[in-house]
Amino acid sequence: MKNIDYFKLQAKNLLKDYQTRYLSEDGDIYEYEPKFFDIVGIFLEYGIMDDDKNFEFKLGNAQHLIAQMAGFASWKDLTTAPETDQLKARKSLERSIHNEYGCTSFISHNFTPDGREITEYSHEPLDSDVPYHEELSGKDWQDGIDECRKYGMGFEPDTIVECIHCGKQFAFKEVKVRRLKPEYNDGQEDDFKEIMCKHYPTCNGNLIDLMPAEIQNDNGSDENEK
Ligand SMILES: [Zn+2]
Repeated sequence: MKNIDYFKLQAKNLLKDYQTRYLSEDGDIYEYEPKFFDIVGIFLEYGIMDDDKNFEFKLGNAQHLIAQMAGFASWKDLTTAPETDQLKARKSLERSIHNEYGCTSFISHNFTPDGREITEYSHEPLDSDVPYHEELSGKDWQDGIDECRKYGMGFEPDTIVECIHCGKQFAFKEVKVRRLKPEYNDGQEDDFKEIMCKHYPTCNGNLIDLMPAEIQNDNGSDENEK
């Protein structure tokens, strides 16, 4: 899936979640039965007050909000950004979706019409996102590497990299590649493949955490003195 299509899908999913809105049995708060997003938490975070009965939220609003969640000022900024920036935005968006909703401690969050806030949290520890992913091998693994290289990221196969997450060094060709399982991707095979540390799933470092080992060493002394 292209980045732009991924963002469009997220906006549609957010809108679908919004459309589950209903007035509670007592008639005093709006509730949701979202499938994809922690919609109440997101509205709260972005200052969207949905407690008015005339409140409207359309596809354009959903797109704008997705752009904001991805770190951009507007949908236009997001959709016209360079591929590399979109890829970074996509990764951070994926992470926030799966942290905030898929595996969080959040249960429900609502406002009453007179502005009272009702939030429930569970106290279970945050799960890792590992169960939401499948590890790739063979051609799928190679496709992940090729896509990463196409975006000007990653390294030559024999380049020794250091994972700043676990501190271990290995050749770039030893990385793991994973993607979301279809059941966590709206039933579709996700073609966004994520490069992970060689020591995944013990280490949760990803592409951003991998630095060429020589450069690390060359700059190491300078960096330390700053
Ligand atoms: Zn690592």
